[in-house]
Amino acid sequence: PFFKEFLPKLDSMFPDLAAKLNANENPYGPSPMALEAFKSAAAGGNRYAWKELFQLIDKIADFEGVESKNIMMGPGSSDLLEKTAMVLFMNGGNVVSADPAYMSLIRVAESVGASWKPVPLKDDWSHDLKAMEAAVDSDTKLVYICNPNNPTGTMTDHEELVDFCSKVSEKVPVFIDEAYLWFLDEGAKKSMVSLINEGKDVIIARTFSKIHGMAGLRVGYIVAQDSTLAKLQNITRGGMGISYPSVYAAMAAMDDTDFIDSSRTLNSECREYVYQSLDQMGFDYVPSHTSFLIFPIEMDGNAFLDKMTQLKVGVRAFEFMDKTWCRVSMGTMDEMKLFTAAINKVLV
Ligand code: PLP
Repeated sequence: PFFKEFLPKLDSMFPDLAAKLNANENPYGPSPMALEAFKSAAAGGNRYAWKELFQLIDKIADFEGVESKNIMMGPGSSDLLEKTAMVLFMNGGNVVSADPAYMSLIRVAESVGASWKPVPLKDDWSHDLKAMEAAVDSDTKLVYICNPNNPTGTMTDHEELVDFCSKVSEKVPVFIDEAYLWFLDEGAKKSMVSLINEGKDVIIARTFSKIHGMAGLRVGYIVAQDSTLAKLQNITRGGMGISYPSVYAAMAAMDDTDFIDSSRTLNSECREYVYQSLDQMGFDYVPSHTSFLIFPIEMDGNAFLDKMTQLKVGVRAFEFMDKTWCRVSMGTMDEMKLFTAAINKVLV
């Protein structure tokens, strides 16, 4: 259904834009070191990247402080979200998550026969962990938590989430999607990865698409107990979809800490600029911990997108909590200026 809906609309979904702020991409990447590594590895593209993939896995394991057996690679974390959903839900069951949440894992779970148990976020935009725990029943196969959350850009308290994961993972695996965690100054400290060494049944997803700026190069991974990965790997292989040069690019991207730091700094400068501009125009917004933010708009979502697209600014519109929301990704400062000018024209 996804591709049937998607393909006929390609032109309208991907129009010519002067500011592409609709997919939470990093406008500065890939990092210079990653790009160089990709280019020099391209000539090796006649070979499968098995040996190099294991080098990347070892490097990631070292970085995460876990063993290599705890890592499964994929061409982007989407691949792993989807594979997890296919394998865990092939005999039905339900998935508990926040609402709104990032829907990719949930949609695939539904497609193979699972049901979704949505639990509204709390008024402070954090996950309602008590209600989520109460929602787990004998049919629940997985709890999915995106932290920071997409599309809201908001965080759930670290300690509370550690307690929740420790407790709930005794009953069912808890999947934590940390795609945007590295935009926080202290990202590493807020990760749930340390629970792996405590033996907890958690699955943590990471991607090179966001802070590393490699959305089009397709590299992501999950960290989990080897027994959990064995269930997935009995049915589906992990890193086979990652191209040879992308493996090299990922290894170089991990070393390019200057690029990572500058992406984080530029991202928060843009966020500050957008906050100030929205304040000046009299809009409320939800303070964000990520590379995007949302604010409510008083216009039909499709009409809004049409008007923004005419001004060559691409954003997303969502409906939840009885409101229409604009979600805007942080681009370059020039793109953000085009965005605020367009908002001024369309909404003010
Ligand atoms: N998880 C979240 C929360 C995301 O927002 C995205 C992409 O936007 C992904 C996962 C998938 O990213 P990728 O497949 O590029 O790793």
